Amino acid sequence: MWDFSTDAAFQERLDWAAGFVRTEIEPLDVLFPGNAEPYDRDSEVFREVVRPLQRQVREQGLWAAHLPPSLGGMGMGQVNLGLLNEILGRSSWAPMVFGTQAPDSGNAEILAHYATEEQRKEYLEPLLDGRIVSTFAMTEPTGGADPGGFTCRAVRDGEEWVIDGEKWFASNYPHAAFVIAMVVTDPDVPVHKGASMILVPAGTPGMEMVRGTGMAGEPLGEGVHAYLRFTGCRVPAANLLGEPGSGFRIAQTRLGGGRLHHAMRSVGQCRRALEMMTERIASRRTRGGPLSDQQAVRHQLADTWVQIEQFRLQVLHAAWQTDRAAGTGDPADARRARLHVSGVKVATPKVLVDVAYRALHLHGALGVSNELPLAKMWNSGPTLGVADGPTEAHQDVIARLLLKDATAADDQLFGSAHLPTRLAAARAKYADRLKETAVTW
Ligand SMILES: Cc1cc2nc3c(=O)[nH]c(=O)nc-3n(C[C@H](O)[C@H](O)[C@H](O)COP(=O)(O)OP(=O)(O)OC[C@H]3O[C@@H](n4cnc5c(N)ncnc54)[C@H](O)[C@@H]3O)c2cc1C
Repeated sequence: MWDFSTDAAFQERLDWAAGFVRTEIEPLDVLFPGNAEPYDRDSEVFREVVRPLQRQVREQGLWAAHLPPSLGGMGMGQVNLGLLNEILGRSSWAPMVFGTQAPDSGNAEILAHYATEEQRKEYLEPLLDGRIVSTFAMTEPTGGADPGGFTCRAVRDGEEWVIDGEKWFASNYPHAAFVIAMVVTDPDVPVHKGASMILVPAGTPGMEMVRGTGMAGEPLGEGVHAYLRFTGCRVPAANLLGEPGSGFRIAQTRLGGGRLHHAMRSVGQCRRALEMMTERIASRRTRGGPLSDQQAVRHQLADTWVQIEQFRLQVLHAAWQTDRAAGTGDPADARRARLHVSGVKVATPKVLVDVAYRALHLHGALGVSNELPLAKMWNSGPTLGVADGPTEAHQDVIARLLLKDATAADDQLFGSAHLPTRLAAARAKYADRLKETAVTW
């Protein structure tokens, strides 16, 4: 059955979320536009404004909506989460206020599966409650897209692991209470079988930030994406999460969800750009009338709407595939979900860049200035083309999955669609009934 409608009771909660984000959270985006501020748990804004807002979200039953009820979340499934995330994507503070921000969302899932009782109490519970934030450190300075190049090692020494090596772009490290790091524990096998996840509490001797890297436009030296160095850094043996060598399996679980959630929120950003574009061309006057009198301008509006609708359906369909795979547990469904998630990962940067570009272009100088959020939105396109794995890696996943069931044509020279060959077969098929029909070939 195909049905694009939203359950009426859930729509009411979405409407509440939409109003709440606009009136209560979007002002925070204006007051604190930096990338680091939402993650600072010691700030006045967190204590005085964010905590009370988070309480309201809990009262509405919308807290940590990505998590199952056993972890204090809603377990609402990816499609409903997609509809909610479209609303949260309008604001950089909203995921924090709703308890769905990366990388904490994925790190919580890892701890829920693999942490000891003690680690759950110390790290998972405050993380789920939004009292602490965390870091995920997988990428290394020598390369992120190719894990084969990872060299950060952990060596077992009695009841401890000793970590040596470097990590790069470990987001939110300056505010994090702990780091989940990917480390090579067995260098003698391929990295996808020899890497593990390890928990390193903040302040552990031997873990230091070489520097904090920021995003384009931020002042040098003040960024939250850490260049990390581990030198003889010791953690208890129990801090290795899951089986030794299972690091990549664990990483894929969290990265798949993260990619889909970024895409859902990108739909929200695109819709916001469309609203701004529509308002602008209806109000700005040129040659005696509104900009929207110009056919070229109207076509940009139409193209933008079409592109967003296509993207939105693609994202919700990938969410539906993900729900289905979780429901059936069938590996074939899981493969199909992976194909669709990689599809939205490839589509996201292009749609963001196209939509934000048209919106900022139609705003003229104001659009490219620092007085509108459009240039920042535009830059989130290339950023999402790299974060969580570059576009090419996902194009590769898609192509490999599509080719998995491909078979070579019997006629390798002309292929199975070759019209003369098919015409001969069609003639033969109906030869006894179509004796008088003229055949031109
Ligand atoms: C905002 C942001 C936040 C991030 N947060 C985190 C984090 O919290 N934790 C973490 O571990 N990492 C994080 N990253 C890092 C991210 O995962 C890596 O940037 C990404 O995996 C790419 O690695 P790289 O930057 O080393 O690029 P490279 O691996 O050097 O790749 C650079 C380019 O080379 C090309 N390329 C690479 N491989 C191929 C290929 N096989 N085929 C064709 N072309 C290819 C692509 O064009 C690619 O963009 C973050 C990145 C960003 C931008």
